[in-house]
Amino acid sequence: MGKPISGKTRLAGILGMPVNHSLSPAMHNAAYRELDFDWAYVPLGLKHEDDLERVLRAIRVLPFVGFNVTMPFKQAMLTYCDEVAMAAKMAGAVNTVHCVDGRLVGYNTDGRGLVESLAEEARFTSGGENITIIGAGGAAGAAAVAFILEKAGRVAIVNRTVERAEELADRLMPYARSTEIVPLHVSEAEEQIRESRLLINATPTGMAQDDPSPIPVSWISRDQIVCDMVYNVRETDLLKAARDAGALAIGGLGMLVHQAALAIDIWSETAQHKAPRDLMRSAAQSVLSSTCSGEVIE
Ligand code: NAP
Repeated sequence: MGKPISGKTRLAGILGMPVNHSLSPAMHNAAYRELDFDWAYVPLGLKHEDDLERVLRAIRVLPFVGFNVTMPFKQAMLTYCDEVAMAAKMAGAVNTVHCVDGRLVGYNTDGRGLVESLAEEARFTSGGENITIIGAGGAAGAAAVAFILEKAGRVAIVNRTVERAEELADRLMPYARSTEIVPLHVSEAEEQIRESRLLINATPTGMAQDDPSPIPVSWISRDQIVCDMVYNVRETDLLKAARDAGALAIGGLGMLVHQAALAIDIWSETAQHKAPRDLMRSAAQSVLSSTCSGEVIE
């Protein structure tokens, strides 16, 4: 929490199923304290998917400044918002909602969060670059949208279910004037992955201890940047292999921190109080290191 709870405290929170392992309350409340905001961020875990509509009706009339949305509601949230920002429409998912006079305005900060973390941790800018995203779900879509907006040269969407990669590519192609979008099955992606400057894992593979890498690790080479959206304490097999190959290996914590910070920037409606990213990362790291299994579901 920021200031002590008062009669004027505004609420924020994370809506999902489940949210009990979420790092968001720790990151957000640390930021509110630092910014001296009279806001409190709470977990909003639902027991049944059918409860979503009723909960949203309540949020509209309660003093919420905004809320985050996680699995399994990111896609459904699109239809419940009164207004949706272009990047969220393109990604087909909302992860951040701003509450404005009872109206719900949807955003997607995952893609921009990824771009900011790559800039910070790898000095990477995607303009003109060849990028491979493994996965074709909500996080892959958000990443692809961010790279299109940054005018990447080529974005390959590689998925074990190639039809889903094709659907995502078809949805994005109308927006991608400067970016070639290529859907591929994992089995036909070797050449694409070898030629990529940046490889991103946007599947949950790696969250469990014995999960194998989502692609053969021999396809990775030293000139590449490999980013895994998974943010366990333990390094995933993909990141370990990337490091062993001499590539730059980046975990998903930076993306998580930046997407949360961007939500605060949206809710506070002023550039004056930029959310304190470093402090938020430390808050997330201390929760992660106190979690024995290191498995976190966001
Ligand atoms: P999602 O919508 O359920 O999509 C999951 C994707 O992963 C699908 O393309 C699915 O393939 C693929 N997949 C699932 N299990 C797989 C396996 N065993 N082998 C190969 N592919 C597999 O999930 P999401 O919301 O996009 O999230 C994906 C991951 O990103 C999660 O781990 C999530 O925690 C992480 N994430 C991290 C951040 C961050 O800030 N760091 C933000 C958002 C998400 P099919 O289509 O074939 O089923």
